[in-house]
Amino acid sequence: MPPGVYPRKHTRHYLSYIDATCENGHWEWTGGRFKDGRPRAYLNHKNVIATRAIWEHYYSSIPENHMVVITCDKRDCVNPAHMAVWPIKKESQ
Ligand SMILES: [Zn+2]
Repeated sequence: MPPGVYPRKHTRHYLSYIDATCENGHWEWTGGRFKDGRPRAYLNHKNVIATRAIWEHYYSSIPENHMVVITCDKRDCVNPAHMAVWPIKKESQ
């Protein structure tokens, strides 16, 4: 192929960035991150929070006004078994 027509870099499936070989069943994210450190996945031509994408892949879609939280002691774990979905509290209530 001539230069410039190679496929875009984001061809690896986001699930391939999971390293599930950590101790204690934690899964480590080996892909990119947002500036604030949250794992970043490329899905449907968009950058999304990887923990949300992984939760929706393994379980079900996340309702509106809910967020994925990590319930284990590894801050950036991406094992869906170590996640929970909580409602986002509204400040004015
Ligand atoms: Zn974990």
